Amino acid sequence: MRDLPVAAIADYAWPTCTTCHRELRHEELGRIACRICQHRADGNLEALAGNSGLYARLGNALTPGASPGEGRVSGSHTAPLPLRLEPLSLSARGGVVTILQTWQVDWHEVLGWRHPRWDGGFQQQLNQVVKALRSNLEWAASSHPAFAEFEAEVATVTRACRRQITGERPERGVRVACACGASLRVTLSTPGTRCSSCGTQYGRTEVLELPLAERAAA
Ligand SMILES: [Zn+2]
Ligand SMILES: [Zn+2]
Repeated sequence: MRDLPVAAIADYAWPTCTTCHRELRHEELGRIACRICQHRADGNLEALAGNSGLYARLGNALTPGASPGEGRVSGSHTAPLPLRLEPLSLSARGGVVTILQTWQVDWHEVLGWRHPRWDGGFQQQLNQVVKALRSNLEWAASSHPAFAEFEAEVATVTRACRRQITGERPERGVRVACACGASLRVTLSTPGTRCSSCGTQYGRTEVLELPLAERAAA
């Protein structure tokens, strides 16, 4: 160690999680993502599946007025749409199920496995793909180079489903850049935040003064 040139020591950066950019713990070294990010992806997948999961509940959000605050605008001149389009596009082919299946196909390719198969209707296929992804999540978070992209997509569809079910309007978020180079997602109502990468704590005013970060690929 003491034979290393000073520059080599100075250039050395402790490995970080590709998803949240936190420094990996000793027992996480060599992994693509930290356990917290793996756990978050697992929680989102779990929330989507099952007969009372978010995906199943999307069906109830399909009729206008089914979610709080919508479909009851008095004096509206526009005829209501027969179906609310967003939950439909999440439920249909190309929606949640397809996004997750595309990842499963990708994982099978990386692992050199046969193309996966799914049976039944969308709900059954959703349950199958979620089960498959969850059982290989440890591998993906440890070894799959695109785990961060996977985690972000799962988080996005989970949020979109939740929004449809609760009828909440999403608060617009922006990414700002911490001095350490990590980006932080904040909203206008953010009370403050802590950079998960360098640990700097920002108050509300300080966080809103940070420069905008370049949009992460998603
Ligand atoms: Zn992480
Ligand atoms: Zn930072």
